Amino acid sequence: MDNKELADLIFPNAKDYTYYEEKYKERNLPEGAIVTRFAPSPTGFVHIGGIYQSLIAKLMSKNDGVFFVRIEDTDQKREVENGTKQILDALKDFDLSPDEFIDENDLDHGNYGPYKQSLRKDIYQSYAKKLLEEGKAYPCFCTSEDLEKIRGDQEKAKERTGYYGKWTKCRNMPIDMAAEKIKNGEAYIVRFKSPGNPDKKIKHKDVIKGSVDFPENDQDIVIIKSDGLPTYHFAHLVDDHLMGTNMVIRADEWLASVPLHLQLFYVMGFKAPKYAHISPMMKMDGEGKRKLSKRKDPESAVGYYKEEGIPKDSVLEYLMNIANSNFEIWRKQNPDKAMYDFEFDIKKMSVSGALFDMVKMLDVSKNVISRYSAEKVYKEAYEWAKEYDEELKEMLDNKDYSLKVLGIERGNVKPRKDISKWSDVKYIISYMYDEKFDKEGEFEYQKITDKEEINEIVSKYFEKYYNENDDKETWFNKMKDLAEELGYAREVKEYKLEPEKYKGHVGDLSTVIRVKVTGRCNTPDLYEIMKVLGKERILKRI
Ligand code: GLU
Repeated sequence: MDNKELADLIFPNAKDYTYYEEKYKERNLPEGAIVTRFAPSPTGFVHIGGIYQSLIAKLMSKNDGVFFVRIEDTDQKREVENGTKQILDALKDFDLSPDEFIDENDLDHGNYGPYKQSLRKDIYQSYAKKLLEEGKAYPCFCTSEDLEKIRGDQEKAKERTGYYGKWTKCRNMPIDMAAEKIKNGEAYIVRFKSPGNPDKKIKHKDVIKGSVDFPENDQDIVIIKSDGLPTYHFAHLVDDHLMGTNMVIRADEWLASVPLHLQLFYVMGFKAPKYAHISPMMKMDGEGKRKLSKRKDPESAVGYYKEEGIPKDSVLEYLMNIANSNFEIWRKQNPDKAMYDFEFDIKKMSVSGALFDMVKMLDVSKNVISRYSAEKVYKEAYEWAKEYDEELKEMLDNKDYSLKVLGIERGNVKPRKDISKWSDVKYIISYMYDEKFDKEGEFEYQKITDKEEINEIVSKYFEKYYNENDDKETWFNKMKDLAEELGYAREVKEYKLEPEKYKGHVGDLSTVIRVKVTGRCNTPDLYEIMKVLGKERILKRI
């Protein structure tokens, strides 16, 4: 018996691999166009790192390239129902929908499908058959006890563990013997026959990590498991080859597999893609840093952002900040441009792992929301409230009034920056709603605390100066007049020059009015607030 006959015995029905080479034509794209993918396992948990990776993929493929999603479900124990839908929905929520994908009903969108590994079993077997025919793969009959014994012997001999070199029990088994065992129904898997020599080095030039040297791979890894499905290593080789991937962008936990992956491409006779390994997102934990963890950090799940009401724009902008630190400056200089106009450079990504910091994310979000129109803030906050906060929803039911409230200090050069997530809105605007305005609440008058003085300021102001039709300048001048009348400086500057001459300054005094009217000492522009509240409601409050 020869290799070809053995291959036929193992995969009697597999088509010749050239069938697939014919079927999936090379992509006809302009020079330099990047074809890349996001290849998650449908485990039911979508990590924010997946959104990050997809954002990078989207950015890289934006000039005539292709971004596709491939569902890697060969480990069927880990799969959950709806896993595919969750992934696609999450990408859609972040405006990162792929150009090609398979939908939840297993319908392919794109010409290089199926985009789901469990539906490609025949394809993998054809390619495994090619390797078997060429004597570059072999059936292995080792049981788990055999493997354990090998491992034990290796540990005793203080050698590397694994299935390689002299430890490969089945590598040199005569073909006839292997065929006999298969015919007798013995269980087996298919292994790759590695040609590597670990004393030799391979050079890898990673798009992000730069040049890295590795010893050559010499492990005879499993390529087809006993259930007939491929392992990740083998599947990714076949898929990225047939799907025309020219840049693999993935987590750097796979960097150590590069020698194996390059070797697989080489042995197969296929051109390997470029590899870009993204460092994980890190988080401060006490003094040290650790990876953002699915178990410990709620913000690692994409669902967190939806629940908290952090807009997708904010999350994406923050991820851009992490990806290219010069984005922040660009954003300051180009507040009105679309994020995708930024010239992203994958080579500037962090080699060691960028810090994922929620405080910073919320800060970015404040800026993002400050650029929104009142209408957009209203729409998004209302959508969020409908799902997560009935009380806020009721407040916002009155659209005309809510638009006025949310429009305070918005759309000008220095817009308000107090909202970083929709779940904050209720508290932030509550004093604009009479039934929520807490008259007896803990007023913080700050500098002026004397009750009589406060009463004097308030009554003077409303009796003598306040007129709801005043324009902003008049309103402010009247505040200054009041200050002068009561012995306060008209300007903060004057007060600072001769503090002993005054009781305080106009700012201290307007704080008193602010606190009386809103119950808070920090609010957006008081003039605008008073305009929106109107005279009648203000007088009722004081
Ligand atoms: N399924 C692999 C993972 O989820 C994909 C790795 C790759 O992108 O090649 O980590």
